[in-house]
Amino acid sequence: MKPEIDEAVSEIFQKQAFVMGPAVASFEKEVADYIGVKNAISCSSGTDALVLALKGLGIGPGDEVITTPYSFFASASSILLAGATPVFVDIDPDTYNLNPSLLEDAFSEKTKAVLVVHLFGQCADMSPVLSFGQEHNIHVIEDFAQSVGATYQGRGAGSMGTVGATSFYPTKNLGGAGEGGAVTTNSSALAEHLKYLRVHGMKERYYHDNLGWNSRMGGVQAAVLNVKLKHLDKMVLRRRQLANRYISALSSLEKDGRLFLPSTSEGNEHVWNQFVVRVENRDEVRGQLMERGIPTDIFYPKTISAQKVFLDRGYDDQNTPIASFCADRALALPIFPELRDEEQQMVISALEQVLSKKLSVEPTKLI
Ligand SMILES: *Cc1c(COP(=O)(O)O)cnc(C)c1O
Repeated sequence: MKPEIDEAVSEIFQKQAFVMGPAVASFEKEVADYIGVKNAISCSSGTDALVLALKGLGIGPGDEVITTPYSFFASASSILLAGATPVFVDIDPDTYNLNPSLLEDAFSEKTKAVLVVHLFGQCADMSPVLSFGQEHNIHVIEDFAQSVGATYQGRGAGSMGTVGATSFYPTKNLGGAGEGGAVTTNSSALAEHLKYLRVHGMKERYYHDNLGWNSRMGGVQAAVLNVKLKHLDKMVLRRRQLANRYISALSSLEKDGRLFLPSTSEGNEHVWNQFVVRVENRDEVRGQLMERGIPTDIFYPKTISAQKVFLDRGYDDQNTPIASFCADRALALPIFPELRDEEQQMVISALEQVLSKKLSVEPTKLI
């Protein structure tokens, strides 16, 4: 994509349109169409998108937001940053997403929203989440930083709740050349409000009615993202091909109880931002893969409620045992559009070798 990107970036320099401007406006339109939502409001990061979404809905001190402890830190730290209180519910071990059957018990008079995360490229089970929101007349906020382009029953991630928040950090499926994010909503009133919040709450130049801050997107970022968006479907197809190949190649290890594979729930189109398996003795397995030249990663080594920031605020991970179980065993294998077939075969062979060895601890049930 380099020639296309170089040209688009050079145009930004020619126009000196470094902040907002035409490239940002066209990206907002294109990405909203891609997701299937009326409005996308670009901003400076996924974290800011989450804080904008919460503040845009007027959620703050005294309010509770139900969310998952199994995600990147920002999913829940954004709730603290907005001044509200996160309430954690456990996850579904098959999808790593929030378990909707636990929402009712977490509800209180103070609950103002459910913040679901569509983790690793697959949407959470939205039907019961949306019904729960309607029943209690509270908002549903979607963190789809890892799932741009994923669908649930034909609806795009980021288009189903009151508001969605996503990230264009370089490791995401739609990654820019730096920081970026967007808030999505079908409500034009909320969209207008968010546009002002992102520029210091300023409707008329130098007149401030709301307390906003600077969360604008740069023109260079939008220029790069406009090019990459055109190639996104192709990149997702390649991720899907790689995921299917991992699944068929590793299924016999799963039958032997050596490994737990990710899967796609019915009604979902998975975009495979990550391919996360579970293994016993995860750190040992990871070390042995590294010795064979296979880099892996851990998403996430600790639940959010067990992070020091949350422990210091009186949280623990006692009520979310499935999330803790997954945090101890999750191992992310290499997956990205440029991964070649022969490279993936090296990963598969190395994993087969490592997992066929006698482990220092016998495998327990990986759920
Ligand atoms: C990356 C990510 C974020 C934060 O996005 P940034 O652009 O890095 O601020 C939030 N939530 C999830 C699930 C993410 O993966």
